Amino acid sequence: MALERLIYASRSIELLKPEQLDAILKVSVTNNARVGVTGALMYSSREFLQCLEGSREAINQTYARILRDPRHSDLVILDYREADRRWFASWGMHHVPPLWSSRQVLLRYSEREAFMPSKMSAAMATALLSDLAADLSASAGAAIAAPEIPRPLGGLTRSYGAAAQRA
Ligand code: FAD
Repeated sequence: MALERLIYASRSIELLKPEQLDAILKVSVTNNARVGVTGALMYSSREFLQCLEGSREAINQTYARILRDPRHSDLVILDYREADRRWFASWGMHHVPPLWSSRQVLLRYSEREAFMPSKMSAAMATALLSDLAADLSASAGAAIAAPEIPRPLGGLTRSYGAAAQRA
């Protein structure tokens, strides 16, 4: 069965409180685990950028539910293609730390300083998510290779404290 990846952007109908975002992530992790979907969700300034990866059937059924969700609107598919491997294999739905939507990071992937994924090109949204996945994988590798050594501040994920994960 082919592995596929869908990347879309949308706009929240309101500024989300951390517990509202948590509720979305919680149901996503539960539902996605059931059908073998993995991915990542970025949220900042009322904008969502989400990556879903899994079988065609699972991706389409999951996206169809997401599309009907009244908590967001203006959904736009940025990219949908066959994938050779999962980027977020360990994550039913990874909540991307807000550092990834900081001005400094966004300027690498967009001509805009603000997080406006619906205006990003498919190539740039893909590059951002691919770099995020590589950073997560490097962090996991560092943790496995040297668990007793404090991890250096370097990669974007590593330098972001758990206490600040909710923006
Ligand atoms: P329930 O959670 O019981 O929801 C039943 C219905 O009520 C659904 O139509 C739901 O959309 C709606 N609903 C639930 N909570 C609220 C609320 N607070 N306000 C208004 N309506 C509400 N789901 C996944 O399975 N996987 C994902 O990766 C995923 N990503 C998401 C990303 C975003 C940006 C958003 C906004 C939602 C996402 N969801 C995801 C949730 C998805 O849209 C559905 O709500 C969910 O899949 C339905 O889960 P459920 O069948 O357990 O029903």
